[in-house]
Amino acid sequence: HAKAAGRNNYQFFDQRMNQAAARRFELESNLRGALGRDEFELHYQPIIDTATRRLHALEVLLRWRRAGGRLVGPDEFIPILEENGTIVPVGEWVIRSACEQSVAWQAQGLAAVPLAINLSARQFMHDGLVESMRRIVGETGIDPALVEFEITETALMQHGGQTLEILRQINGMGMRLSIDDFGTGYSSLAYLKRFPVRKIKIDRAFVRELEASAEDRAIVAAVMALANSLQLSVVAEGVETEGQYALLGSYGCQFAQGYLFARPLPACDTARLLVIEPTVIPGSQ
Ligand code: C2E
Ligand code: MG
Ligand code: MG
Ligand code: MG
Repeated sequence: HAKAAGRNNYQFFDQRMNQAAARRFELESNLRGALGRDEFELHYQPIIDTATRRLHALEVLLRWRRAGGRLVGPDEFIPILEENGTIVPVGEWVIRSACEQSVAWQAQGLAAVPLAINLSARQFMHDGLVESMRRIVGETGIDPALVEFEITETALMQHGGQTLEILRQINGMGMRLSIDDFGTGYSSLAYLKRFPVRKIKIDRAFVRELEASAEDRAIVAAVMALANSLQLSVVAEGVETEGQYALLGSYGCQFAQGYLFARPLPACDTARLLVIEPTVIPGSQ
């Protein structure tokens, strides 16, 4: 009896494994041509200045628009692109498209707002990265000061000896660097003083329960103290409530990003945030 039940469990598990494998195979084969079929699109999420609640920058977030219109988020497909190496051309497409969009917005008279573009570990390890960035800057005419790259601690650590040199080259082109998902990766803090990084993004995991958790408040306070003494600016990710926002402000966190302010938006909705209001000219009396 026990043996039969065990066998059933095994079959059930096996079936689920097959479903997961089939789904993954389906995703992987459809992803293969997605770039060529022009199925990727970029959404933009505001990062605001906590003191003024004004727009400070836009994080560029990749989406896959599948045939039929369904929008797929990066957590579902970036790991596959990372594994099969396609993240390199897709990542290059992201950088180029974001830069083209920024230049187009400026040509329409819209505000020039910095873009925060995510880089994955595999992209960061790819030899042609710096060269492709240089080419994109040259071809699109973007002001490199408007481009910031977000890299996780884990991605930085994986690259070993060459990391510093690559960061210096990116920085040398006038582009900025920030540490994404700060506090969740395996790393020593020593890299913060060695690497030309200007900003850290506190992971959503420490923001989520900020109001209820004294431990999370202690962590955020400690990160703020560290950042202040190293002269790094800080963005809090995943701010969803006014309470979180108020607490972050009280800790001196300069920038915030989250559903409280805006979800990631398609380009057309983003453009509305970039309208420059003409100055009001008061009467002479
Ligand atoms: P990330 O860089 O940490 O981006 C922030 C993620 O948090 C985004 O998820 C964003 O939609 C989500 N988020 C923002 N505010 C809130 C909030 O208040 N609550 C909650 N629950 N979530 C919030 P998204 O767009 O699904 O992206 C997930 C991850 O995929 C990103 O995490 C980033 O690591 C990666 N990714 C996105 N676009 C790209 C890309 O172009 N290239 C690479 N290499 N990775 C990308
Ligand atoms: Mg990011
Ligand atoms: Mg992040
Ligand atoms: Mg994150």
